[in-house]
Amino acid sequence: KRMITTDIMDEDLKIEQNLRPKMLTDYIGQSKAKENMKVFIEAAKIRKEPLDHVLLYGPPGLGKTTLSNIIAHEMGVNMKITSGPAIERPGDMAAILNNLQEGDILFIDEIHRLNRQVEEVMYPAMEDFVIDIVIGKGPAARSIRLDLPKFTLVGATTRIGLLTSPLRDRFGVINKLEFYTLEELTHIVKRSADVLNIGIEEDGAVEIARRSRGTPRLANRLLKRVRDFAQVKYSGDITIEVADYALDLLDVDKRGLDKSDRKLLLTMIEKFSGGPVGLDTLAATISEDSGTVEEVYEPFLMQLGYINRTPRGRVVTDLCYKHFGINTEQ
Ligand code: ADP
Repeated sequence: KRMITTDIMDEDLKIEQNLRPKMLTDYIGQSKAKENMKVFIEAAKIRKEPLDHVLLYGPPGLGKTTLSNIIAHEMGVNMKITSGPAIERPGDMAAILNNLQEGDILFIDEIHRLNRQVEEVMYPAMEDFVIDIVIGKGPAARSIRLDLPKFTLVGATTRIGLLTSPLRDRFGVINKLEFYTLEELTHIVKRSADVLNIGIEEDGAVEIARRSRGTPRLANRLLKRVRDFAQVKYSGDITIEVADYALDLLDVDKRGLDKSDRKLLLTMIEKFSGGPVGLDTLAATISEDSGTVEEVYEPFLMQLGYINRTPRGRVVTDLCYKHFGINTEQ
Protein backbone atom coordinates (compact mmCIF):
# COMPACT_ATOMS: atom_id res chain seq x y z
CA LYS A 1 0.00 0.00 0.00
CA ARG A 2 1.21 3.51 -0.78
CA MET A 3 2.73 5.42 2.12
CA ILE A 4 0.97 8.48 0.82
CA THR A 5 -2.41 6.91 0.25
CA THR A 6 -5.09 9.22 1.56
CA ASP A 7 -7.24 6.24 2.55
CA ILE A 8 -7.35 5.71 6.28
CA MET A 9 -4.67 3.24 7.37
CA ASP A 10 -4.79 1.32 10.66
CA GLU A 11 -2.02 3.46 12.08
CA ASP A 12 -4.10 6.59 11.45
CA LEU A 13 -7.07 5.42 13.47
CA LYS A 14 -5.23 5.52 16.77
CA ILE A 15 -3.95 9.05 16.38
CA GLU A 16 -6.67 10.74 14.36
CA GLN A 17 -9.09 10.73 17.24
CA ASN A 18 -6.66 12.69 19.44
CA LEU A 19 -5.63 15.05 16.70
CA ARG A 20 -9.09 16.10 15.59
CA PRO A 21 -9.69 19.73 16.43
CA LYS A 22 -12.94 20.12 18.39
CA MET A 23 -13.88 23.73 17.76
CA LEU A 24 -14.08 25.85 14.63
CA THR A 25 -11.28 28.13 15.86
CA ASP A 26 -8.87 25.15 15.98
CA TYR A 27 -9.84 24.06 12.49
CA ILE A 28 -6.95 25.38 10.46
CA GLY A 29 -7.40 26.71 6.93
CA GLN A 30 -10.50 26.17 4.73
CA SER A 31 -11.42 29.78 5.39
CA LYS A 32 -14.26 29.78 2.87
CA ALA A 33 -16.00 26.70 4.25
CA LYS A 34 -15.33 27.89 7.78
CA GLU A 35 -16.81 31.36 7.27
CA ASN A 36 -19.78 29.79 5.57
CA MET A 37 -20.40 27.36 8.41
CA LYS A 38 -19.93 30.03 11.07
CA VAL A 39 -22.78 32.07 9.61
CA PHE A 40 -25.11 29.09 9.21
CA ILE A 41 -24.40 27.84 12.72
CA GLU A 42 -25.04 31.28 14.22
CA ALA A 43 -28.26 31.71 12.26
CA ALA A 44 -29.56 28.27 13.22
CA LYS A 45 -28.77 28.95 16.87
CA ILE A 46 -30.61 32.28 16.80
CA ARG A 47 -33.64 30.68 15.21
CA LYS A 48 -33.31 27.73 17.59
CA GLU A 49 -33.63 25.40 14.64
CA PRO A 50 -31.52 22.47 13.47
CA LEU A 51 -28.89 23.36 10.93
CA ASP A 52 -29.73 23.00 7.26
CA HIS A 53 -28.35 19.86 5.58
CA VAL A 54 -24.69 20.24 4.65
CA LEU A 55 -22.74 18.62 1.84
CA LEU A 56 -18.94 18.55 2.12
CA TYR A 57 -16.87 17.48 -0.84
CA GLY A 58 -13.23 17.22 -1.79
CA PRO A 59 -10.37 14.70 -1.86
CA PRO A 60 -9.95 12.29 1.07
CA GLY A 61 -8.13 13.36 4.23
CA LEU A 62 -8.88 17.09 3.94
CA GLY A 63 -11.10 17.26 7.02
CA LYS A 64 -14.69 16.46 6.09
CA THR A 65 -15.33 14.18 9.08
CA THR A 66 -13.48 16.60 11.31
CA LEU A 67 -15.55 19.56 10.17
CA SER A 68 -18.75 17.61 10.70
CA ASN A 69 -17.65 16.77 14.24
CA ILE A 70 -16.96 20.42 14.87
CA ILE A 71 -20.38 21.42 13.57
CA ALA A 72 -21.95 18.99 16.05
CA HIS A 73 -19.81 20.41 18.87
CA GLU A 74 -20.65 23.99 18.00
CA MET A 75 -24.36 23.18 17.77
CA GLY A 76 -24.18 21.21 21.02
CA VAL A 77 -25.71 18.07 19.50
CA ASN A 78 -24.72 14.45 19.01
CA MET A 79 -23.37 13.04 15.79
CA LYS A 80 -24.06 9.57 14.40
CA ILE A 81 -21.62 8.31 11.78
CA THR A 82 -22.37 5.94 8.95
CA SER A 83 -21.41 5.56 5.31
CA GLY A 84 -23.08 5.06 1.96
CA PRO A 85 -21.94 1.47 1.38
CA ALA A 86 -22.77 0.45 4.97
CA ILE A 87 -26.50 0.98 4.54
CA GLU A 88 -27.85 -1.76 2.34
CA ARG A 89 -31.62 -1.68 2.74
CA PRO A 90 -34.18 1.11 3.05
CA GLY A 91 -35.26 -0.41 6.38
CA ASP A 92 -31.71 0.06 7.78
CA MET A 93 -31.82 3.71 6.88
CA ALA A 94 -35.31 4.10 8.33
CA ALA A 95 -34.08 2.58 11.61
CA ILE A 96 -31.08 4.93 11.79
CA LEU A 97 -33.24 7.98 11.10
CA ASN A 98 -35.89 6.90 13.56
CA ASN A 99 -33.31 6.55 16.34
CA LEU A 100 -31.98 10.09 16.02
CA GLN A 101 -32.72 12.74 18.64
CA GLU A 102 -34.09 16.14 17.77
CA GLY A 103 -31.25 18.27 16.39
CA ASP A 104 -28.78 15.40 15.96
CA ILE A 105 -26.34 15.29 13.10
CA LEU A 106 -26.27 12.25 10.87
CA PHE A 107 -22.93 12.04 9.08
CA ILE A 108 -22.96 9.90 5.95
CA ASP A 109 -19.50 9.39 4.49
CA GLU A 110 -19.18 8.39 0.82
CA ILE A 111 -22.75 9.48 0.34
CA HIS A 112 -22.44 9.01 -3.43
CA ARG A 113 -22.45 5.26 -2.75
CA LEU A 114 -25.96 5.09 -1.27
CA ASN A 115 -28.03 2.73 -3.36
CA ARG A 116 -31.08 3.94 -5.19
CA GLN A 117 -33.76 2.62 -2.82
CA VAL A 118 -31.97 3.87 0.26
CA GLU A 119 -31.47 7.23 -1.38
CA GLU A 120 -35.19 7.50 -2.02
CA VAL A 121 -35.86 7.15 1.70
CA MET A 122 -33.69 10.23 2.19
CA TYR A 123 -35.75 12.59 0.00
CA PRO A 124 -38.84 12.99 2.24
CA ALA A 125 -36.63 12.56 5.32
CA MET A 126 -34.46 15.51 4.36
CA GLU A 127 -37.27 17.64 3.06
CA ASP A 128 -40.16 17.08 5.48
CA PHE A 129 -38.63 14.91 8.22
CA VAL A 130 -40.88 11.97 7.44
CA ILE A 131 -40.40 8.47 6.08
CA ASP A 132 -42.87 6.24 4.33
CA ILE A 133 -42.82 2.65 5.46
CA VAL A 134 -44.54 -0.14 3.62
CA ILE A 135 -46.25 -2.66 5.88
CA GLY A 136 -47.41 -6.08 4.71
CA LYS A 137 -47.02 -7.72 1.33
CA GLY A 138 -48.94 -8.01 -1.92
CA PRO A 139 -52.45 -6.54 -2.20
CA ALA A 140 -52.65 -6.02 1.57
CA ALA A 141 -49.53 -3.84 1.61
CA ARG A 142 -50.04 -0.30 2.71
CA SER A 143 -47.76 2.60 3.33
CA ILE A 144 -47.69 4.57 6.55
CA ARG A 145 -45.98 7.84 7.17
CA LEU A 146 -43.71 8.22 10.19
CA ASP A 147 -42.56 11.54 11.65
CA LEU A 148 -38.84 11.87 12.31
CA PRO A 149 -37.01 14.12 14.73
CA LYS A 150 -35.69 17.23 13.00
CA PHE A 151 -32.11 16.28 12.20
CA THR A 152 -29.25 17.63 10.13
CA LEU A 153 -27.70 15.48 7.46
CA VAL A 154 -24.03 16.08 6.79
CA GLY A 155 -23.01 14.23 3.65
CA ALA A 156 -19.39 13.80 2.62
CA THR A 157 -18.10 12.77 -0.77
CA THR A 158 -14.89 12.66 -2.75
CA ARG A 159 -16.91 12.39 -5.95
CA ILE A 160 -19.55 15.06 -6.18
CA GLY A 161 -20.06 14.23 -9.85
CA LEU A 162 -21.58 10.90 -8.89
CA LEU A 163 -24.30 12.43 -6.71
CA THR A 164 -27.76 12.40 -8.25
CA SER A 165 -29.29 15.83 -8.63
CA PRO A 166 -32.39 15.10 -6.47
CA LEU A 167 -30.04 14.29 -3.59
CA ARG A 168 -27.65 17.18 -4.21
CA ASP A 169 -30.52 19.65 -4.49
CA ARG A 170 -31.74 18.77 -1.00
CA PHE A 171 -28.63 20.16 0.68
CA GLY A 172 -29.00 23.76 1.78
CA VAL A 173 -25.26 24.26 2.23
CA ILE A 174 -22.59 22.90 -0.11
CA ASN A 175 -18.94 23.34 0.82
CA LYS A 176 -15.89 22.38 -1.18
CA LEU A 177 -12.78 21.60 0.83
CA GLU A 178 -9.49 22.69 -0.74
CA PHE A 179 -5.94 21.40 -0.47
CA TYR A 180 -4.10 23.16 2.37
CA THR A 181 -1.34 25.68 1.78
CA LEU A 182 2.19 25.03 3.01
CA GLU A 183 1.67 27.52 5.84
CA GLU A 184 -1.57 25.91 6.95
CA LEU A 185 -0.11 22.41 6.86
CA THR A 186 2.97 23.55 8.77
CA HIS A 187 0.61 24.93 11.39
CA ILE A 188 -1.22 21.57 11.52
CA VAL A 189 2.05 19.63 11.85
CA LYS A 190 3.17 21.84 14.73
CA ARG A 191 -0.19 21.57 16.45
CA SER A 192 -0.17 17.77 16.10
CA ALA A 193 3.42 17.58 17.37
CA ASP A 194 2.30 19.58 20.36
CA VAL A 195 -0.64 17.27 21.09
CA LEU A 196 1.53 14.16 20.68
CA ASN A 197 4.40 15.64 22.69
CA ILE A 198 6.87 15.52 19.85
CA GLY A 199 9.73 18.00 19.77
CA ILE A 200 9.99 19.59 16.35
CA GLU A 201 11.92 22.47 14.83
CA GLU A 202 10.26 24.95 12.49
CA ASP A 203 12.08 23.79 9.34
CA GLY A 204 11.42 20.16 10.22
CA ALA A 205 7.70 20.94 10.36
CA VAL A 206 7.89 22.82 7.05
CA GLU A 207 9.64 19.86 5.41
CA ILE A 208 6.95 17.41 6.54
CA ALA A 209 4.23 19.83 5.42
CA ARG A 210 5.88 20.29 2.01
CA ARG A 211 5.71 16.59 1.30
CA SER A 212 2.16 16.01 2.56
CA ARG A 213 0.23 16.77 -0.63
CA GLY A 214 -1.81 19.53 0.95
CA THR A 215 -3.53 16.87 3.08
CA PRO A 216 -3.72 16.88 6.89
CA ARG A 217 -4.22 13.11 7.16
CA LEU A 218 -0.91 12.60 5.39
CA ALA A 219 0.84 15.32 7.34
CA ASN A 220 -0.12 13.59 10.59
CA ARG A 221 0.94 10.18 9.30
CA LEU A 222 4.30 11.44 8.03
CA LEU A 223 4.87 13.29 11.29
CA LYS A 224 4.46 10.02 13.18
CA ARG A 225 6.80 8.15 10.87
CA VAL A 226 9.46 10.85 11.06
CA ARG A 227 9.18 10.84 14.84
CA ASP A 228 10.08 7.14 14.85
CA PHE A 229 13.25 7.95 12.94
CA ALA A 230 14.02 10.88 15.19
CA GLN A 231 13.80 8.69 18.26
CA VAL A 232 15.57 5.62 16.96
CA LYS A 233 18.26 7.08 14.71
CA TYR A 234 18.81 10.55 16.11
CA SER A 235 17.44 10.34 19.64
CA GLY A 236 15.98 13.80 19.63
CA ASP A 237 13.70 16.40 18.15
CA ILE A 238 12.60 16.47 14.54
CA THR A 239 14.98 18.64 12.58
CA ILE A 240 15.07 19.22 8.85
CA GLU A 241 17.86 16.64 8.57
CA VAL A 242 15.76 13.93 10.21
CA ALA A 243 12.69 14.87 8.17
CA ASP A 244 14.68 14.82 4.92
CA TYR A 245 16.34 11.53 5.72
CA ALA A 246 13.14 9.77 6.83
CA LEU A 247 10.95 11.04 4.02
CA ASP A 248 13.52 10.18 1.36
CA LEU A 249 13.67 6.69 2.81
CA LEU A 250 9.87 6.48 2.73
CA ASP A 251 10.14 7.41 -0.93
CA VAL A 252 8.10 10.58 -0.66
CA ASP A 253 9.88 13.23 -2.71
CA LYS A 254 10.26 16.99 -2.21
CA ARG A 255 6.85 17.73 -3.69
CA GLY A 256 5.06 14.82 -2.03
CA LEU A 257 5.16 12.54 -5.05
CA ASP A 258 5.76 8.82 -4.65
CA LYS A 259 6.62 5.98 -7.01
CA SER A 260 3.09 5.72 -8.44
CA ASP A 261 2.88 9.43 -9.22
CA ARG A 262 6.29 9.35 -10.85
CA LYS A 263 5.40 6.29 -12.86
CA LEU A 264 2.20 7.91 -14.05
CA LEU A 265 3.94 11.12 -15.08
CA LEU A 266 6.98 9.43 -16.61
CA THR A 267 4.76 7.12 -18.65
CA MET A 268 2.99 10.18 -20.02
CA ILE A 269 6.33 11.73 -20.91
CA GLU A 270 8.19 8.71 -22.24
CA LYS A 271 5.45 6.66 -23.88
CA PHE A 272 3.02 9.37 -24.97
CA SER A 273 5.35 12.35 -25.59
CA GLY A 274 3.60 14.28 -22.83
CA GLY A 275 0.05 13.53 -23.93
CA PRO A 276 -2.80 13.88 -24.48
CA VAL A 277 -3.47 10.54 -22.83
CA GLY A 278 -6.88 9.14 -21.94
CA LEU A 279 -7.81 8.64 -18.31
CA ASP A 280 -8.25 4.86 -18.62
CA THR A 281 -4.82 4.41 -20.20
CA LEU A 282 -3.24 6.43 -17.42
CA ALA A 283 -5.02 4.43 -14.75
CA ALA A 284 -3.83 1.19 -16.33
CA THR A 285 -0.17 2.28 -16.12
CA ILE A 286 -0.35 2.32 -12.34
CA SER A 287 -2.98 -0.44 -11.96
CA GLU A 288 -5.57 1.85 -10.41
CA ASP A 289 -9.20 2.29 -11.39
CA SER A 290 -9.85 5.43 -13.37
CA GLY A 291 -12.19 6.85 -10.71
CA THR A 292 -9.38 6.85 -8.17
CA VAL A 293 -6.97 8.45 -10.60
CA GLU A 294 -9.50 11.13 -11.43
CA GLU A 295 -10.58 11.93 -7.87
CA VAL A 296 -7.44 11.23 -5.84
CA TYR A 297 -4.25 11.43 -7.93
CA GLU A 298 -5.19 14.04 -10.48
CA PRO A 299 -6.51 16.83 -8.26
CA PHE A 300 -3.16 17.01 -6.49
CA LEU A 301 -1.07 16.75 -9.66
CA MET A 302 -3.21 19.50 -11.18
CA GLN A 303 -2.84 21.58 -8.04
CA LEU A 304 0.94 21.29 -8.42
CA GLY A 305 0.52 22.39 -12.03
CA TYR A 306 2.10 19.15 -13.35
CA ILE A 307 -0.79 18.03 -15.52
CA ASN A 308 -3.73 19.62 -17.28
CA ARG A 309 -7.01 18.20 -18.45
CA THR A 310 -7.84 18.87 -22.07
CA PRO A 311 -10.83 17.69 -24.09
CA ARG A 312 -8.58 15.10 -25.77
CA GLY A 313 -7.01 13.78 -22.58
CA ARG A 314 -4.40 14.62 -19.97
CA VAL A 315 -1.18 16.45 -20.82
CA VAL A 316 1.92 17.09 -18.73
CA THR A 317 3.17 20.66 -18.31
CA ASP A 318 6.62 22.25 -18.59
CA LEU A 319 6.71 22.37 -14.80
CA CYS A 320 6.39 18.61 -14.76
CA TYR A 321 9.27 18.18 -17.23
CA LYS A 322 11.31 20.45 -15.01
CA HIS A 323 10.50 18.32 -11.97
CA PHE A 324 12.20 15.41 -13.67
CA GLY A 325 15.08 17.57 -14.89
CA ILE A 326 14.08 17.24 -18.53
CA ASN A 327 14.93 20.20 -20.76
CA THR A 328 12.08 21.13 -23.10
CA GLU A 329 13.64 24.19 -24.73
CA GLN A 330 14.98 23.34 -28.15
P1 ADP B 1 -11.87 13.31 5.54
O1 ADP B 1 -13.12 13.04 6.31
O2 ADP B 1 -12.00 14.48 4.60
O3 ADP B 1 -11.31 12.10 4.84
P2 ADP B 1 -10.74 13.75 8.19
O4 ADP B 1 -11.72 14.73 8.71
O5 ADP B 1 -10.84 12.34 8.67
O6 ADP B 1 -10.73 13.77 6.58
O7 ADP B 1 -9.27 14.34 8.50
C1 ADP B 1 -8.14 13.52 8.65
C2 ADP B 1 -7.27 14.02 9.81
O8 ADP B 1 -6.69 15.25 9.44
C3 ADP B 1 -8.07 14.31 11.08
O9 ADP B 1 -7.92 13.29 12.03
C4 ADP B 1 -7.46 15.56 11.65
O10 ADP B 1 -6.52 15.22 12.65
C5 ADP B 1 -6.70 16.18 10.52
N1 ADP B 1 -7.35 17.42 10.06
C6 ADP B 1 -8.24 17.52 9.05
N2 ADP B 1 -8.58 18.81 8.85
C7 ADP B 1 -7.90 19.54 9.75
C8 ADP B 1 -7.83 20.95 10.02
N3 ADP B 1 -8.52 21.85 9.31
N4 ADP B 1 -7.04 21.36 11.03
C9 ADP B 1 -6.32 20.45 11.73
N5 ADP B 1 -6.34 19.13 11.50
C10 ADP B 1 -7.11 18.66 10.53
